Amino acid sequence: AISIHGAVKAFGDTVVVDGVDLSLPSGSVTVVLGPSGSGKSTLLRAINHLEPLDRGVVTVGGETIGVRLRTGRDGIPRYKELPERLILRQRSRIGFVFQHFNLFPHLTALENVAEGPIAAGVPRAVARDRAAALLERVGLGDRGDTRPRQLSGGQQQRVAIARALALEPSVVLLDEPTSALDPELVGEVLGVIRGLADTGTTLVIVTHEIAFAREVADHVVFLDHGRVVEQGSPAQVLDDPQHARTRDFLSRVR
Ligand code: ATP
Ligand code: MG
Repeated sequence: AISIHGAVKAFGDTVVVDGVDLSLPSGSVTVVLGPSGSGKSTLLRAINHLEPLDRGVVTVGGETIGVRLRTGRDGIPRYKELPERLILRQRSRIGFVFQHFNLFPHLTALENVAEGPIAAGVPRAVARDRAAALLERVGLGDRGDTRPRQLSGGQQQRVAIARALALEPSVVLLDEPTSALDPELVGEVLGVIRGLADTGTTLVIVTHEIAFAREVADHVVFLDHGRVVEQGSPAQVLDDPQHARTRDFLSRVR
C-alpha cells in the first residue's frame, strides 16, 4: 500500500505538487492523468524520494520513505532526511520505469536486469538465473545477450520493466512507459504491464492511454496544477467526470 499525505513540492516560486493526499491499497492499479506540467512526474518521483517533498509524507508498506521523525532540542518533532544508504535500500524495493527506458547502454539486457540484485549482494549466478526468468516473463527470453541499442524501443522498455522487477518490489511506478514508443510497439509494453497488474503488484502508472486505463485501473486520479481534481473508478472519472477540467482534458487526449 502507498499513502501520500499532505504532499507539497515547489520549484522556486512554482508550487507543482499542491497538497496531495492519496491512499492506494496493496495490489491496486492506479492511473494518474493530467495535462503536461500538472505535476504527475514530480508526484511519482516523490513516492521513492527521487524528488524530496517540501512538506508531507509518503509511506510504502507502512514505512516512511526518505525521512524519519526526529525530536529536536526544542522538543518539536520534525522530519529529517534518512542517510543515503537507507534511502537507496528503500528505493530498491520500489520499482521505477522511466519514459526513456534508462538502460545501461554498455550492458546486455540480462546484465541490465541482474545488475541491481548483484549490487544488493545476490550471488552473481543466482541473479543471472533470475534475470533470465524475468526476461522470459516479458517475452525476451532469447534476447539476454543483446545490448539496448540493438533492441526496439518496445523491447528496451520491456527490459526496463524486467529490471524494475528484479528486486521483487511490492510497488512499481511507471512514468509514461509507452509515450516514447512508436504506435505499433505500444501494445507489447501494455501487455507486459497488464500481466504485472494481474500478479497483485501495486502499480502507479502515469499514462495518456485512456483505453488501457479503463481496462486495468482500479483507481484513476486526475491531477491539474498539482492538485487532485478528481479521483475514483475508471467508470466514474473517465466516463462520468464531474469537473469541467477533467472533461476538457479527456476530450483532448481521446
Ligand atoms: P508531463 O506530462 O509534461 O510529463 P508532468 O505532469 O509530469 O508533465 P512535472 O514533470 O511533474 O509535470 O512538472 C511539473 C512542473 O514542475 C513543470 O512546470 C516543470 O517545468 C516543473 N519542474 C519539474 N521538475 C523541475 C525541476 N527539477 N526544476 C524546476 N522545475 C521543475
Ligand atoms: Mg511527466
